[in-house]
Amino acid sequence: MGVSEITALVRACGGCHGLFFEVKHVEKLYAGVIVDVRAEAVNRIFQYAIPERYRATIEIGHRVLVPFGRRKLEGYVVELTDELEVEKERLRSILKPLDPEPAILPSLVELARWMGETYAGLFSEALQYMLPPARRYGRERVGVKTAQLVTLLEPEPQLRKNAWVQRRVVEVLQARGGRLLAPELLALAETSTSTLRALAERGIIALEDVRVERKVEVEPLPDPQLVLTARQHEAVATILAELEGERRPVLLHGVTGSGKTEVYLQVIAEVLRRGRQAIVLVPEIALTPQMLGRFAARFPDRVTVLHSALSLGERFDQWCKIREGRVDVVIGARSAVFAPLPRLGLIILDEEHERTYKQEEGSIRYQTREVAIKRCQLTGGQVVLGSATPAVESYHRALQGQYILAELPERVESRPLPKIEVVDMREEFAQGNRSMFSRRLREELEDLVGTERQAIILLNRRGFANFVLCRECGEVLDCPNCQVSLTYHKGVNRLKCHYCLHQEVLPQKCPRCASRYLRQFGVGTEQLEETLAQEFPELKTLRLDADTTRRKGAHSAILRQFAQGQAQVLIGTQMVAKGLDFPQVTLVGVLAADLSLRFPDIRSSERTFQLLTQVAGRSGRGELPGLVIVQAYEPGHFAIEAARSHDYLGFYRKEIGFRRALGYPPFRQLTRILCSGPQTEAEEACRRIAAHLLARGIPQMDLVGPFPAPIGRIQGRYRWQVLVKSDGPLQGLGELPSAGGDVQVTVDLDPLYML
Ligand code: ADP
Ligand code: ZN
Ligand code: ZN
Repeated sequence: MGVSEITALVRACGGCHGLFFEVKHVEKLYAGVIVDVRAEAVNRIFQYAIPERYRATIEIGHRVLVPFGRRKLEGYVVELTDELEVEKERLRSILKPLDPEPAILPSLVELARWMGETYAGLFSEALQYMLPPARRYGRERVGVKTAQLVTLLEPEPQLRKNAWVQRRVVEVLQARGGRLLAPELLALAETSTSTLRALAERGIIALEDVRVERKVEVEPLPDPQLVLTARQHEAVATILAELEGERRPVLLHGVTGSGKTEVYLQVIAEVLRRGRQAIVLVPEIALTPQMLGRFAARFPDRVTVLHSALSLGERFDQWCKIREGRVDVVIGARSAVFAPLPRLGLIILDEEHERTYKQEEGSIRYQTREVAIKRCQLTGGQVVLGSATPAVESYHRALQGQYILAELPERVESRPLPKIEVVDMREEFAQGNRSMFSRRLREELEDLVGTERQAIILLNRRGFANFVLCRECGEVLDCPNCQVSLTYHKGVNRLKCHYCLHQEVLPQKCPRCASRYLRQFGVGTEQLEETLAQEFPELKTLRLDADTTRRKGAHSAILRQFAQGQAQVLIGTQMVAKGLDFPQVTLVGVLAADLSLRFPDIRSSERTFQLLTQVAGRSGRGELPGLVIVQAYEPGHFAIEAARSHDYLGFYRKEIGFRRALGYPPFRQLTRILCSGPQTEAEEACRRIAAHLLARGIPQMDLVGPFPAPIGRIQGRYRWQVLVKSDGPLQGLGELPSAGGDVQVTVDLDPLYML
């Protein structure tokens, strides 16, 4: 079908800031339609004629009803053209449009097309992300909410003497200017709908259904108008200059507490002044109550928040409000990148390195950063990526000139970065300290007793941290090929690599020092809380982890209690590392900093560095200076060492060297193709796909596998995978041989997990 109309036009008018999309289309004869069926076989554009009477109405993004074989199906118009591309006899017509206005913005139709191609998924599946929430979940009924509006027609109606209730209704209406929504009226007049019906029958009042909106309130927090520091000012200027010019993404690299939020706020203010709109993405809404409050205060009535705790109805109303252009700033997690702001001019990704920005479910496993960049290309917008610890890939692009670098190397008001001490836990063990706390951490906790100061203790236990560690020398077994730690598989009593086929028997003794203290690692936060209570009964604690935050609202309740000083120590998993701004926190303790180094993952060093830097950044944010005590079995590891000396660049240089040597991103693309299904079928499908890729003779492509996935079977379905390393994006993933039968194929670009 050639280059689509819309991309061509957008390219031609780079200067109109995407406002082009608001313009009505010229009349077209034919429509390219994607039918709303999630199946490989129909993952292509079908051409239909547009009946004369709909030619002025139907636009790109319209939901339409089309004949399909013997059925009638819903679909979306994704192209309009004058050229007939099927045989005339076979051409069928669109039956009708299903909404008065197109449901999807044209730029988002293009984005969906790009996602389908890039992530080897279905166009129709990608379009789902662009739809109002209720429809996306197949719940048509959730939609517009209506209520009865009651209007008084006769100002002084004649009522029977004993019609007390009717009189009360009339009086309430008179007092409220003659109009009121039925639920409120009934509550005030203490009566039921039958009274209203009686009054309506007599022509005293009129009843009509009107649309009401479910409101989502963000509570504004005190928001001081800050005078920008020189550095902040420079960062804002850099971003605005790019927005005026080439609009390359800006990477805002600012240390913790350097005032990135204020930079965001001022850039948004400028974008709004120009009549454009902004999306602010955060890793997790629950972690950012402080930030939300400041946004709500700065841009009163123009901010909305999208998050998963909202009901479908609330989300639907938010979506409509956004689609109709009635709000200008949308804050949300990952999927808010699709918020249908019609005049989008800016997307900010705060903490851009966070892994929650990667979609890990469904057939389209997108990386939000890439989607944001693409969307801004389509609408003429600017992307800002903010982080104290940028993803190695992002920093690499900045050094290459693909991104523009803006830096905030100091905390505001010259507050010092916290001092970080690293304790060698092998030493502690040798000195006879078998406790989970080092002597240094214990001293500092004792010091806390009886003061107003607070502490945060991080224990980053992961579900799959089942590596084996020598408590005497700190040795952990790595794969000889892959530089990731081996994972212990209890069932077979073997250590396996999750990136290649290497496996070995669990040794009896430490291969380095022959000690017998080889232990599986696995203390949890709960145990930590108990131990702390025994050793420091004076310190009140709160715990923040997956278990204590399961209940809705529990997360923010715990943070509120901590902010109010109801506890002195906050214990938790990586949840405590991010975004929190508590001025009373002067001490941060990290137990087993190595845990995250031992996750079988090529990004484990990066993640460790990020986690340590982030959690350290929680300390000393107020007037008092901060201290961080990091306990580790391998204190000399470069990720820990770089975090200790606040040396992002030092970390980056080491890490990028490893990535280059091992052929990992950003130098080579890693793609994981997973086949799951009945045993032989899954294996055969995986082998067929591997053979197909090899037969295409793609230069510089390496395959690892096919081999059974580390978790070989989930819910009775066998899992086989093949890993592909390629130079540049792997083309033609959409044309893989069909798996057939009951086998499901998942393509994951730059996978975060290999399990
Ligand atoms: P980051 O996100 O970079 O870690 P924040 O945006 O949370 O940092 O800012 C850290 C603290 O510094 C906040 O309490 C904020 O109010 C304050 N701050 C930011 N900019 C300024 C400024 N120009 N002058 C004074 N205080 C500022
Ligand atoms: Zn050892
Ligand atoms: Zn390996």
